[in-house]
Amino acid sequence: MSWNNNKNIKCRWCGKFLKDKGWKWECPDETCGYVILDTSVYKTKLCPKCKIKKVVSEFSKCATRKDNLQFYCKQCTAIKEGK
Ligand SMILES: [Zn+2]
Ligand SMILES: [Zn+2]
Repeated sequence: MSWNNNKNIKCRWCGKFLKDKGWKWECPDETCGYVILDTSVYKTKLCPKCKIKKVVSEFSKCATRKDNLQFYCKQCTAIKEGK
C-alpha cells in the first residue's frame, strides 16, 4: 500500500489511518467507507433536525445543494428513510 499520510487522520468509525487522496481522506477499509473531504475536516454544520453541530463528514453529499451537503445529517436522513 502506498499513500503519503503526513496528517495521520484516523477513521472515526474503525480507527484505521485514512488514505490521503489529495482532496479527501478515505478509510482503507472498503466496508467502512468513511471519507473526509480535505477542506472540511474541521468544518461543522448544524443539523436542523437533531440540533447537533456535526462535522460535515457526518452529512451525505448532495450536488444540488449550495454547500454540496444534505440538509440533515446521515443519522437523521437514515431515520427519515426508515433504514
Ligand atoms: Zn474506517
Ligand atoms: Zn441530525
